[in-house]
Amino acid sequence: MIEFNNVSLTYPNGHQGLKNVNLKFNDGEFIVVVGLSGAGKSTLIRSINQLVKPTEGELLIDGEDTLKFNEKKMRKLRTKIGMIFQNYNLVKRSTVLKNVLTGRLGHIGTFRSMFNLFPQSDVRLAMESLNRVGIAEKAYVRSDQLSGGQQQRVSIARALTQQPKVILADEPVASLDPPTSHIVMKDLKRINREDNITTIVNLHFIDMAMEYADRIIGMRAGEVVFDGPASEVTEKT
Ligand code: ADP
Ligand code: ADP
Repeated sequence: MIEFNNVSLTYPNGHQGLKNVNLKFNDGEFIVVVGLSGAGKSTLIRSINQLVKPTEGELLIDGEDTLKFNEKKMRKLRTKIGMIFQNYNLVKRSTVLKNVLTGRLGHIGTFRSMFNLFPQSDVRLAMESLNRVGIAEKAYVRSDQLSGGQQQRVSIARALTQQPKVILADEPVASLDPPTSHIVMKDLKRINREDNITTIVNLHFIDMAMEYADRIIGMRAGEVVFDGPASEVTEKT
């Protein structure tokens, strides 16, 4: 379980990213965060793996306050949190398989990771992940040869290869056309169901949020202004 208790985040330039956020995310939930640009969606999900660090409050994961973690504990936690970005963040000149294997980097120890020496079991896991998003046949293709939708599925496979407990997806479909967006959202939802991975997705289209979310969080100016099931949104609009 992920629990925000009175969490605020003020950036060094004075911008307020989060304002007194209180939230609980249960294991296996599929949550969509919506709001206008600048509402704090990215800040919210990036606080969970501390790509940005809240300046006040408690952020508990399985009961432990992660804001008090040292580097080593944080690194260990990050191996269990998969991250998906709007622009895929793949190494363009590397093959798809090599990109997906980087999901194992936190797991294989410093020495092996210096030389990208992955055990066969990791290669099998990476191939399985590619298979689950339907692009195993692209394993040996350079990642920049793929379409946007395929690249995003590679990044989902990379996250999956971490064997994560949590997946954070920051505007995963913002660069994709509507049909491709649905393919990516369906992959995320299916994996959430099959592996019981807590999944938090930022979106700026409410219709897409209503179609896929179990629960919708609405944000405005760093605050949570709505938290409820997708069905409640329909009644109010
Ligand atoms: P999004 O709306 O998708 O979060 P933005 O364009 O707001 O994207 O931000 C893109 C990047 O710039 C992010 O990494 C964000 O953290 C950073 N950023 C956003 N606003 C500022 C700011 N005022 N000063 C510095 N960096 C910022
Ligand atoms: P969203 O993801 O909803 O677009 P963000 O979390 O990116 O919103 O931004 C929330 C607020 O924090 C905005 O006012 C934005 O300008 C500011 N912000 C985001 N990233 C940074 C940053 N790295 N430095 C300074 N301000 C930032």
